[in-house]
Amino acid sequence: MKNYKIAVLKGDGIGPEIVEQAIKVLDKTAARFDFTVDYDYADLGGVAIDNYGEPLPQATIDKCKAADSVLLGAVGGPKWDDQPGSNRPEAGLLKIRGALGLFANLRPAVIFQPLKSASPLKDSIIGDALDIMVVRELTGGIYFGKRGTYEQDGVQGAYDTEMYTVKEIERIARVAFDMAMKRNKKLTSVDKANVLDSSRLWRKTVIEISKEYPQVELNHMYVDNCAMQLVRNPKQFDVIVTSNIFGDILSDEASMISGSIGMLASASLSEGKSGLYEPIHGSAPDIAGQNISNPLATILSVSMMLKYSLDQPKAALAIENAVTKILETHRTPDIYEAGKAKVTCTEMGDLVADLI
Ligand code: NAD
Repeated sequence: MKNYKIAVLKGDGIGPEIVEQAIKVLDKTAARFDFTVDYDYADLGGVAIDNYGEPLPQATIDKCKAADSVLLGAVGGPKWDDQPGSNRPEAGLLKIRGALGLFANLRPAVIFQPLKSASPLKDSIIGDALDIMVVRELTGGIYFGKRGTYEQDGVQGAYDTEMYTVKEIERIARVAFDMAMKRNKKLTSVDKANVLDSSRLWRKTVIEISKEYPQVELNHMYVDNCAMQLVRNPKQFDVIVTSNIFGDILSDEASMISGSIGMLASASLSEGKSGLYEPIHGSAPDIAGQNISNPLATILSVSMMLKYSLDQPKAALAIENAVTKILETHRTPDIYEAGKAKVTCTEMGDLVADLI
């Protein structure tokens, strides 16, 4: 029987309660689909600052590297607000991406049919359902390029540089084409090739890689147009691939189409199979400890892990189906609608697990 080792970083705030629900669902899924899971718990964020004096201790990196995949809740909270920038809980998040070589960020923007009314977009724009995957390059580009401040003729200035190598673009393009092959075989590469040299290299390289994927329909779009198209006609998109900074902005825009932060999962992948899976929301300190948070984004992160790192697509689908079904009748307070049963975080975890 296949066995997987998962490093679990519960983090801070609502992190522990939502991760516990996701583990409950994963255990049930494992039993149903004949595999086993071992969990190795480690500290990241504020809890790591309390226990080790730093947000990402070496012991956590070692456990994550030894695992088949990593499940993360969320980090941060007012308790650690007076920490210096490099020792804040969120600094642990940036460092772990580097330490694990997580270069590809996958951000699905999905509207679950029963939650259509939560979207800020009109029914006529969304149609029956919406399912976009944004693939964002995560370890290159302007966030990591040459930067600095200077003074010229008594005037202060500052600069950051967008830099990409062909190798970095090829690597993220392959992730996006592979993703498109598993979905509707449609890929939109987003750049600013009318202005930026780095974007012209991006476009040329993506076109080269497209020759390896003749079944995928590739188109190119300028980032400003893409920002408009996402709200004007989002259904035209299947997979979007783009640079670090454009992806940062577009993935947030795309995810808000769903209208509910407690529903959105994400994955960050390294070379090979392993990855880090987490909800896109933060540690929600305002509701922590009340058992009223929505665990579905974390549960759906487990579904992504099964699909993209553990080669268990049927198990992944079983979780997605269970979530869609439960939304028809039960809701946590953040997505509550009249006529549904209002449930706690723990109850939502139990209900999804029961449906697997
Ligand atoms: P947040 O996402 O934690 O919360 C924003 C709002 O959404 C809050 O009202 C919160 O109650 C609600 N919310 C979020 N997740 C929810 C869920 N699962 N169920 C129900 N309601 C939910 O963002 P914030 O308030 O800006 O940040 C809080 C802390 O989280 C900060 O310390 C921030 O730095 C950190 N943060 C961490 C991550 C991460 O760990 N990846 C991401 C974003 C923010």
